[in-house]
Amino acid sequence: MVNGWAYSQGTLHCDGFSLERLRMCLRQKYGYLASPAFVYSLGMLRHNVRDYKDTLGPRGVLSYSLKANSNPGLLVALRDAGVTMATTVSGNEVLMALHAGFLPRQVILNGNGKRRWEVELAVRHEVLLNVDSVFDAQLLVDVVREVGVRARALVRLNPVLDAHTHPYLATALRDSKFGVEERQLLQVLKVLGGSGASGHVDLDECVAVHKYVSVEGVHVHVGSAITQIQVYVKMMQAASLVLKQIQEYGWKAATIINLGGGLNVFYDLPTSPASTMPPPATMERQSKSKETAANSAVSSPVTADTSSSGYTPQELIEKVLPYLPEGATLVLEPGRSLVASAGVVMTEVLGVKTNGGKEYVVVDAAMTEVIRPALYHAHHPITYVTPPAHQPLVEVDVVGPVCESSDFLARRCLLQRPPAGPGVALVVWRTGAYCSSMASNYNLRPHALEVMVHGPESYKVLRRPQEFQDLLREIA
Ligand SMILES: *Cc1c(COP(=O)(O)O)cnc(C)c1O
Repeated sequence: MVNGWAYSQGTLHCDGFSLERLRMCLRQKYGYLASPAFVYSLGMLRHNVRDYKDTLGPRGVLSYSLKANSNPGLLVALRDAGVTMATTVSGNEVLMALHAGFLPRQVILNGNGKRRWEVELAVRHEVLLNVDSVFDAQLLVDVVREVGVRARALVRLNPVLDAHTHPYLATALRDSKFGVEERQLLQVLKVLGGSGASGHVDLDECVAVHKYVSVEGVHVHVGSAITQIQVYVKMMQAASLVLKQIQEYGWKAATIINLGGGLNVFYDLPTSPASTMPPPATMERQSKSKETAANSAVSSPVTADTSSSGYTPQELIEKVLPYLPEGATLVLEPGRSLVASAGVVMTEVLGVKTNGGKEYVVVDAAMTEVIRPALYHAHHPITYVTPPAHQPLVEVDVVGPVCESSDFLARRCLLQRPPAGPGVALVVWRTGAYCSSMASNYNLRPHALEVMVHGPESYKVLRRPQEFQDLLREIA
């Protein structure tokens, strides 16, 4: 049995479970709500965790970034596989991490716009907070004074580093909305030390009032889908300097360097025996897609590529560990690279049509499940669950039923033309991250079913599909 994804006897299998068989099981259980469906591989998930854990060693901590996919079933699986911390970006994500069994002290709350209730929640539970600005530091101190519990914090630095990714995924450009710029660092430390933002306080006095906040280190996160490893070395160097400053400012026990997430997906698709070209039934035409993006009225032709590019976790860790200062602890908080390759969206072909010479394959999944192509021009390869025999390769757009022209899953990709008739299924690859968690009810579409395969004979429903009644429930 192969852990993860593999074609066997002409059909895609997940951890040894045939996806055709899975489709049948789901259809019996949920009827028309069985498609589209998110399918996750437990084997792949474990494999991805192991990739980090094996090289991280005793000086490193692995924290999963919930926003990539916050399904509690998936969180439990990640925790069981060895993820020890959870990085969150909202109060509800903190609650979800706790719900999934992470201990409060294993949770990090990040955010450039935390609300008072979120900071209170974090302080009461002794969650580690990433302080993002002078006003965020002031809010934290105010809450600590009120609640009477000393807070644990990291300072999020904006190191001003270009992550060389899609502009929407870059978070540390000079004028980014995230983090503290270097010239404001001292001010933030003063506030956290207990003196007002503007009032002059000498260092001795500051040390005396460090009772409100224990600053435990520094946090940097420069973006997502990063393909250049050198960026991490620069992050480590910038963070090390700030850690030293924090220690000199009085928090002598500060030891954490949190380098955020951002590693791209590095997983190659399984090859199918029926395919005529690698990878199986689809070939991304990257240069062409870029051309298309540039020709359309979209402002940025830069894509957030989810094809296998960049580095493995081992390469990343081996590269940065030598730069970790003596006595410091490294925290990595990947989202995408842990879960993207573990998930696919399984979808049925509704029909084929041509307009103006362009051929469309219309499927039942849409931007409501996979918004990344519309949002970042991300590439998600698409292949058949069971590649059809004798169908010609054609250039098509794979689109969903949502009433928006931005509702496409892949543009100008090479796919075998679907055979006539119902019931042909495709999978959209690397959709385990930032798909379910970015899903919407636009067009009153229900949130799709999510299942995790545990082995050749078992799978578990992680989320039943929404029904119309669910959509009505919250309406007053
Ligand atoms: C989103 C985010 C991450 C995870 O980023 P990936 O690109 O999914 O690895 C890590 N840390 C913080 C603070 C984030 O906001």
